[in-house]
Amino acid sequence: MAYDFDLFVIGGGSGGIAAARRATEYGARVGLAEAGRLGGTCVNRGCVPKKLMVYASHFPEQFEAAAGYGWTVGDSPTETRCEPQFDWPTLITALDREVTRLNGIYQTMLEKSGVHLFRHYAHFLDDHTLAVGEEKITAGKILIAVGGKPVKPAISGIEHTITSDDIFHLPEQPQRIVILGGGYIGCEFACVLQALGTQVTQVIRGDKILRGFDGDLQSEIQSAMAQRGITLFTHSEIVAIHKTDGGIDVTLATPEKQEHVLADVVGLAATGRRPNINGLGLDKTGVEVSQGAIIVDTLHRTTVPHIFAVGDVTDRINLTPVAIKEGRLLADREFGGKSGLMNYDNVPTAVFTTPEMGTVGLTEEQARQQFGDDDIQVYRSRFRPMYYTLPNLESRTLMKLVVQKSTDRVLGAHMVGDYAAEIIQGVAIAVKMGATKADFDATVAIHPSSAEEFVTMR
Ligand code: NDP
Repeated sequence: MAYDFDLFVIGGGSGGIAAARRATEYGARVGLAEAGRLGGTCVNRGCVPKKLMVYASHFPEQFEAAAGYGWTVGDSPTETRCEPQFDWPTLITALDREVTRLNGIYQTMLEKSGVHLFRHYAHFLDDHTLAVGEEKITAGKILIAVGGKPVKPAISGIEHTITSDDIFHLPEQPQRIVILGGGYIGCEFACVLQALGTQVTQVIRGDKILRGFDGDLQSEIQSAMAQRGITLFTHSEIVAIHKTDGGIDVTLATPEKQEHVLADVVGLAATGRRPNINGLGLDKTGVEVSQGAIIVDTLHRTTVPHIFAVGDVTDRINLTPVAIKEGRLLADREFGGKSGLMNYDNVPTAVFTTPEMGTVGLTEEQARQQFGDDDIQVYRSRFRPMYYTLPNLESRTLMKLVVQKSTDRVLGAHMVGDYAAEIIQGVAIAVKMGATKADFDATVAIHPSSAEEFVTMR
């Protein structure tokens, strides 16, 4: 039977667009449905606007550091003191302008590739047929790449909180905010908003933020966040949220007692994300789901062999570059005659807190569990980078290598400090290639830099 398309992609985010474009390179006829702005979570309400906000948040410390280097920031020519001013609406407008520019670039890229774009939601009518807006469309192969959406816990008054989707559209900067959750999103926004001048209270149910990351990195960031003025309630839960004339009254159950914290009109629920499968009509297909995520095999095939899924909807490693790689590899296999599989080992990642974290490979805890304490050697270096010496600012960098003694292999490389993401991206190549500690030691340092510590640790 002749189908309308060889491949139809549901979702115009990182994974879907990557797969669609790559498939057209092999001559496939490709359609893609996206009702919202092109680029998905990453471009519209995730990585991109968040990172731009992170840049904005670094200026206060840079102004402070500038004085140590002989600069006077903010004095007008008439000697009247004029502090640096931050204007939230200017930033929000600039972010939106940039996101719109990127939406346009994605549209042009898709058009140039020959992908037929449908600006509608799509849902399954059967295994090969989709309703896309008013149209019925058939496809030989279908890719589900609809991503995820934030979840809010069932707390009385949770409707008074926003999620990270909304933060980029707040008309005014919150003066006080309560953030629930200590994962990537909770911590990144806590740092951004605090540095921009918001009074931040963060509430986590465990004892440490950023669960799953190396313990030293968690502690380093947690204490740095506290030092910068973020109030953290550990082992605590939000039990109720009420709107009052004075703001949002958040009732916390802490280990000692109940506390009340007042926030502005917003609180931020950053308590994880869930695959976005509602309304897809999966019940019209044989596609199976486990714990809300679409089940796929190593070829990214669902339980229906010609229907595939990539990215956050499969809830594996929910990162943009992972979805992009999964999408491209899928197109290579299905339309390019290639056989490459996604490898989930040593996927580097960064958390754009202040200070920033970059990490690749096994945490110390994972390495000890996997290989035993006797076979693990840990190298650590904690220091004040040169940049902070003249302004005499208390900012520390932590670097750590986790090495297997019996093979000398570097199992994990971790960093908290300036440019951690940039530095770890390079180190990740070595870790992925199986470099040994001797290989790191044989590499000549770049001096003076922070990164050189990775090749001089003893
Ligand atoms: P995370 O899974 O990272 O963190 C969720 C946080 O919410 C944890 O602290 C968790 O606590 C807490 N939590 C969950 N449920 C509840 C509850 N019912 N009550 C109280 N606390 C709760 O999710 P995020 O929303 O921060 O981020 C979602 C995903 O987005 C990440 O997994 C990541 O893949 C991606 N992302 C990546 C970024 C990057 O690459 N820099 C940036 C932002 C997002 P506990 O630890 O106790 O479970």
